[in-house]
Amino acid sequence: MTNKYLLNIYENVKQKDKNEPEFLQAVYEVLNSIEPYVNEHPELEKNGIIERFVEPERVITFRVPWVDDNGKVQVNRGFRVQFNSAIGPYKGGIRLHPSVNLSIMKFLGFEQTLKNSLTGLPMGGGKGGCDFDPRGKSDLEVMRFCQSFMTELFRHIGADTDVPAGDIGTGAREVGYMFGQYKRLKNEWTGVLTGKGLSYGGSIGRTSATGFGLCYFTNKMLNIMKNTSLEGKKVIVSGSGNVGIYAAIKAKELGATVVALSDISGYVYKESGIDLDLAREIKEAKRGVLADYASLDKECEFNPNPKLLWQVKCDVALPCATQNEIDLDDAKALVSNGVIAVAEGANMPCTLDATNYLLENKICFAPAKAANAGGVMVSGFEMSQNSMRLSWTFEEVDQKLKQQMENIFMEVHECAKHYDNMYNTVLGANISGFKKVAAAMLAQGVC
Ligand code: NDP
Repeated sequence: MTNKYLLNIYENVKQKDKNEPEFLQAVYEVLNSIEPYVNEHPELEKNGIIERFVEPERVITFRVPWVDDNGKVQVNRGFRVQFNSAIGPYKGGIRLHPSVNLSIMKFLGFEQTLKNSLTGLPMGGGKGGCDFDPRGKSDLEVMRFCQSFMTELFRHIGADTDVPAGDIGTGAREVGYMFGQYKRLKNEWTGVLTGKGLSYGGSIGRTSATGFGLCYFTNKMLNIMKNTSLEGKKVIVSGSGNVGIYAAIKAKELGATVVALSDISGYVYKESGIDLDLAREIKEAKRGVLADYASLDKECEFNPNPKLLWQVKCDVALPCATQNEIDLDDAKALVSNGVIAVAEGANMPCTLDATNYLLENKICFAPAKAANAGGVMVSGFEMSQNSMRLSWTFEEVDQKLKQQMENIFMEVHECAKHYDNMYNTVLGANISGFKKVAAAMLAQGVC
């Protein structure tokens, strides 16, 4: 990055937010890649667009007290970062995980702004969460926590203001409890959360949307950049949660063999392909771990270190667990084992070094904000259906998802080619997403 305006902004963010490494990492990546666009548009500097773009519109932190099954009061810290509402109401998930802190919330809200712009739908960027760990908690504890969380959050959100959704640790159960509490406090049924159950306004296809969308994007990318597809490819997937499981299922449907799958407990490997029905049952229905899978599928190998997944030989790697799970050494291992594509299902799963290494080695790289946009896209469909009091069929939703994920790939690809080279999809995604947000901010004056 050599543009003085951008360098000054980054230095300023670094000074102000020095204790926020994930946020700084995301800001650096974005500023670095939008540089050619900023160079062409001096009005951005004159109007202070980038200074405003890296500063969240609002950050809310709050106390979440709840009572555990032993009658003891527990206290967690809740967050909602309302990052940018230039193109629509704030929209982004709620993460429930012990690692949640302001840096992670801000990085996710910042990335979400660009991701939502890429969907083509009118949604701004936001993110929320809490350092609460739902693992090992009873249903009643999770319900009491969710009710307390919403008792503060409800005054800051609304169907036309801010529409949260699921993320790590927040699935249908948690969304249900939060929605119930919102409705009770406001005396209003409104599409204020997405990822709801089908019996109360959820969109069919939302659960699988991020994983399915990731594979539609990856297939199109392989098609256009390498004249091939997922058919016949060996795929590895990290994370067997909402994103990972459905990415694996769709990759298989598209003709790939998913040879390895991981979770916190380790990874399972099977040359002929993981039994995804069994894996899904263990992870979704039983809330178990892949170590349990290994004890039921005698043909598989189990390794208790999930990090070693990246040493497994594959054609396509789908990191779908968490941020910074692929570092430079992992990227080197993937490349030396012949990977042709890495598609990010999780948010920022590759470190900056790893991403740069993959790009330099001309690996087809699908950056998260484009490749995992399918989830928020179907959330956008859910918002439309709630407003219209309508519901669409799975086929309608899936068809729209597929079409729009392919459109996003083409937009990113054309932009990458225009400004640099076709492998620089990071630049393509960042500039494509940023242009629309910047245009809306310019049109709306200083706010
Ligand atoms: P879940 O909580 O449903 O699943 C996360 C999975 O990753 C779990 O299986 C977990 O293991 C595993 N995991 C966590 N850390 C590690 C690790 N270090 N190594 C291996 N496995 C690990 O979350 P989601 O699937 O919803 O989200 C995953 C990622 O995708 C996040 O980055 C999220 O922000 C992003 N994302 C999610 C969207 C969605 O629609 N849900 C939309 C867009 C992005 P275990 O099961 O043992 O806990």
